[in-house]
Amino acid sequence: MMSDHSNPDETQIFGPLDPEPRLLMGPGPVDVYPQVLRAMSNSMLGQFDPQFTEYMNQVMVLYRQVYRTENRWTFLVNGTARAGIEACLTSLISPGDRVLVPVFGRFGHLLTEIARRSGGEVVNIETQWGNVFTPDQLADAIREHQPKIVALVHGDTSTTMAQPLDEIGPICREAGVLIYVDATATLGGMRVDTDAWCLDAVSAGLQKCMSGPPGTSPVTLSDRAAQQVQGRKHVEAGIRSADADDADGVVIQSNYLDLAMLMDYWSPLRLNHHTESTPMLYGARECARVVLQEGLEAGFRRHRLTSRALRAGLTAMGLELFGDSAHRMDNVTGVHVPSAIDEEGAVRAALLEDFGIEIGTSFGPLQGKIWRIGTMGYVCRKANVLRCLSAMEGVLRRHGFGTTSGAGIDAAYRVYDDAAT
Ligand SMILES: *Cc1c(COP(=O)(O)O)cnc(C)c1O
Repeated sequence: MMSDHSNPDETQIFGPLDPEPRLLMGPGPVDVYPQVLRAMSNSMLGQFDPQFTEYMNQVMVLYRQVYRTENRWTFLVNGTARAGIEACLTSLISPGDRVLVPVFGRFGHLLTEIARRSGGEVVNIETQWGNVFTPDQLADAIREHQPKIVALVHGDTSTTMAQPLDEIGPICREAGVLIYVDATATLGGMRVDTDAWCLDAVSAGLQKCMSGPPGTSPVTLSDRAAQQVQGRKHVEAGIRSADADDADGVVIQSNYLDLAMLMDYWSPLRLNHHTESTPMLYGARECARVVLQEGLEAGFRRHRLTSRALRAGLTAMGLELFGDSAHRMDNVTGVHVPSAIDEEGAVRAALLEDFGIEIGTSFGPLQGKIWRIGTMGYVCRKANVLRCLSAMEGVLRRHGFGTTSGAGIDAAYRVYDDAAT
């Protein structure tokens, strides 16, 4: 039994690492595809080994398909999804640039925070958590504030809402504004059409619908975005050649997250930057391979159907879904904590301890107010929906929320039966 204190149990320190298995049905991280775990345990390679650089090139090809783009600059940034966000924003935003960040949840605040630290002059528009923006609202804000860059979240897991982007990208392009999108929570689970939607920079992580571990961030940059970044290229001393010319733009403030230098590392130049994480490269490659082998459209359908079944079950149990029903993400469901439940944390703890199932609550104004149930990637399957619904029924009844026995399961089964005919 793990203790909750920062001083670990002395007798366990040299015990084998043997965590009890969990079913991760929160907003991420989620269970990792077994193939990905296996891929990650392959032997280490040197970073300039031809096998390794070939895998780097394969990863670029695979993620172009995942992102549905022709972008040459499609590669990995080591670090969690936040590293990809920060690499894009800090490499695109020069000090003093005006950045418009529409906020519809926690991650809009994160983009604001990172854009500010990058020296951007940030303007926000906000909507209540549980809603998204209309294209007109975005177009008006662009007209009013004349930003150089728009930074926007696609699926904000904090509210479980998905911002439609198909009209917003073209509005930005028309206005000559670069658009960056955080697609961490949607990539692989919902359509992310980088080229068709005219997105200039998109980043993600693996621990949501790609069903990998946290630790590397696939990013893609349009030629326009790449040009901006390369206009700020300053190669560090020690690796720069004698005849290297610095670009005119302001030096990118982060060395580790400098996309201009990373692009040299991911190009035939192979100019050394950090040491690309070998297991994460293997893992990222396998995540993309598994997702593409199923087929992106088939994967999206699976996420839609699974969410539909889960939602039918939750509703039939007498629970109320959270947020604007027209803009829900297909891979995570928000549900109001019913008023009969005094301590929502006790419900989550019982699900975890008694059933081994993890679900989440949310942040800020929604902390303790909603639960978030994820059905992402490897976790997104019928057996897990039925397990989660039956576990919730049992736990909710013990905590004073009466529901009709079997109602949730029956409703979910009906969705699957209807889909099969
Ligand atoms: C989960 C999530 C992240 C996570 O970032 P990490 O650095 O990998 O923890 C970022 N953005 C969104 C929209 C997310 O849902």
